[in-house]
Amino acid sequence: MPSTPLSPALALETVLANVAARPTETVAHSQLLGRTLAQNAIAPFDLPPFDNSAMDGFAVQAADLTEPNARLKWVETVAAGEVAKGAVSRGHCLKIMTGAPIPHGADAVVMREETAFDGEWVRFETSAKTGQNIRKRGSDVREGEVVLAQGTPLRAAQWAMLASLGFAETEVFQTPKIGILTTGAELVAPGEKRREGQIYDSNSFALRGLVEATDAQIVESRRCGDSPAEVEKHLRELAAKCDLVVSSGGVSAGDFDPVRDVLHEHARVHFWKIAMKPGKPVLFASLGETPIFGLPGNPVSVMVAFEEFVRPAILKLSGRRFLHRREVRAKLAHEIRRTPGRTEFMRATLHFQNDHFVASVRGDQGSGRLSTMTNADALLVIAPEIATLKAGDWVYARLIEMPENH
Ligand code: AMP
Ligand code: MG
Repeated sequence: MPSTPLSPALALETVLANVAARPTETVAHSQLLGRTLAQNAIAPFDLPPFDNSAMDGFAVQAADLTEPNARLKWVETVAAGEVAKGAVSRGHCLKIMTGAPIPHGADAVVMREETAFDGEWVRFETSAKTGQNIRKRGSDVREGEVVLAQGTPLRAAQWAMLASLGFAETEVFQTPKIGILTTGAELVAPGEKRREGQIYDSNSFALRGLVEATDAQIVESRRCGDSPAEVEKHLRELAAKCDLVVSSGGVSAGDFDPVRDVLHEHARVHFWKIAMKPGKPVLFASLGETPIFGLPGNPVSVMVAFEEFVRPAILKLSGRRFLHRREVRAKLAHEIRRTPGRTEFMRATLHFQNDHFVASVRGDQGSGRLSTMTNADALLVIAPEIATLKAGDWVYARLIEMPENH
């Protein structure tokens, strides 16, 4: 089964052409965190809904405070959540707390720290300007405005925004259901006894972590050996109950690469092999209607291929508007020499120095070296034709983590 490797760009295009957003459902506000909006969220009213005080202080008519040290008579006190009984007329003021509605007649608030109050009269150290310390109705969000667009992931700020607009429920995309199959006769689970020649399975954990970071739901993660019958059974069962299946191992050119054989025999293969390093033998197929990624077994290949192809596919299934990682420009800390021919995804650490990022690619970039991932903030995407990059050259770094400063 010969196959000409696709460019990563064409492979991604092929993947996205074979994946569509999940149907939508209506979900109660309390359950929305981590979901993706399937509607534009339109503000049903202004935010803030009424003019209110930005300070604890006194609501006044600015015209009464053209000079420092003026005195006004206190009339009442209003807390957040209350409405003043009366209005503020010339010569008078009203004690007000942050968030309380501005009473009729008032057009400014003077902060408490600039006043002295004896229980009846208030002396103002400063003059006041019309509008000061008043948060105007609609100054944050206007009624009718699209506050959040369809395809926006609902994180803390977006969830909070929907709450402040009183959304009791919202239309979101159904959460994609993902199946994971980890293949390899040599694998044992952490906690099991490892015999000579065996290794601990790490890919199923890499995949679980990567899938969970997308907000998708893992329906099942299974592990099996290298018998084609076994692999076929698991792939069929997972494909039947998932929206997307990701497997690890068994897709390269070895004698015992069952995922490759099973998918070529029973599925529609869209491509096998991408002109990239690491991750060349990536296979993408549809089994029935379900897209399946056969990712290679090398621990770095599996993670890089997931980043570049599976993650965008899952985000598209989720209904997301934006599918790709942020990129920043970085200066190389050192020279890079390599064999041209394939697009290479180098694992880099980023440091912010002076006014720019500096990227370091340390050590051998072998696709079996998981330690190149544990230290990585970003992937540097090196174009196929490039053989040498000098220290100080600008490169693009695709951020795969948003780590704390280090
Ligand atoms: P394969 O693609 O199945 O030929 O595997 C390529 C390499 O990755 C071999 O050295 C495997 O032992 C290793 N490998 C495969 N699956 C895993 C896994 N789940 N965890 C760690 N290493 C793996
Ligand atoms: Mg294998």
